[in-house]
Amino acid sequence: MSHDPILSLDQLHVSFLKRDFLGRISDTLHAVKDVSFEIESHQTFGLVGESGSGKSTIGKAILRLLKPERGKIIFDGEDLQSFGLFTPLSYRKQVQAVFQDPYSSLNPSHTVANIIGEPLTRHLGLSGKARQQRVIELLERVGLSAYHGGRYPIEFSGGQRQRIAIARALAVEPRLIICDEAVSALDVSTQAQVINLLESLQRDLAVSYLFISHDLAVVRHISHTIGVMYLGNMVELGSAERVYERPLHPYTEMLLASVPLANPIEQQKRRMARQQLRRVETNARKHVERGCPFAPRCPYVMQVCLEQMPAPLAVEGGGMVRCHLHSANGAELTSPLESRIPVPKKD
Ligand code: SF4
Repeated sequence: MSHDPILSLDQLHVSFLKRDFLGRISDTLHAVKDVSFEIESHQTFGLVGESGSGKSTIGKAILRLLKPERGKIIFDGEDLQSFGLFTPLSYRKQVQAVFQDPYSSLNPSHTVANIIGEPLTRHLGLSGKARQQRVIELLERVGLSAYHGGRYPIEFSGGQRQRIAIARALAVEPRLIICDEAVSALDVSTQAQVINLLESLQRDLAVSYLFISHDLAVVRHISHTIGVMYLGNMVELGSAERVYERPLHPYTEMLLASVPLANPIEQQKRRMARQQLRRVETNARKHVERGCPFAPRCPYVMQVCLEQMPAPLAVEGGGMVRCHLHSANGAELTSPLESRIPVPKKD
């Protein structure tokens, strides 16, 4: 793995203030706590976790839609805090986004050619024939044609709309694209087509992706590195291969248990393991404030888990895990959990 990060997060914290009906601050929700990771140039970092895990909040902080409470976001060597209140056009050009619902992010009253052409004019100053030619190139690059440029978003399927959203993101030749649940609303075969398209664009254009999804199987297919989020904490980080085949954290194991397997015997084993993992230690809930946030759901919970938040432990070969199961002598690549859940091989 090269060590040439396009983006680094260093101990990022993002919080939301809750207010009562008089506008007074009644509570603070810590949406992202002490999260650090790097996205290597020309690679894909997969950020996975359930709803409310903080993964989309991280995407919004990188897009400067949210202000971090603390910590740093460094893009291409530049600390985003140095931008002050306004985000420079050059940063907006280099960091683009593709969201889950392409229909709501595409202006329904504009033709596809106008939707893709608008950033070409704003960021690159293209107009007339040059802009028209570039729009056609982009449509063809995402598997559509010049004919589609004169049509409106409502005339396309979900997969085609996502291709249009990708073409618009690509228009300004970004270096990083944040794909936030970008394939979650698509059926399985369309998901595969869009992921294949993203992979081929990465090969040809050397773009990097932050790929955010709740689905570990999807993340595994496209990512070089995976970070697993739980209640605002990054609980595991490592190469996609290691995380998928030898998960170290019980929550990662639980996410893997929800990935269906083709082999019915293996699937049955997994179903049984999943039932075991779903045992909820309700007594542990009251301790979650000071202990491991996963303790209420963890089948391996120990007394120490209820009292101390596990510190991040470096994993041999790269990455980290936050779990007391691994804290005796540092994390090992052989997980004590790995034999419990059968894991499908990557195609
Ligand atoms: Fe489970 Fe304890 Fe590890 Fe948390 S620290 S995931 S409760 S074993």
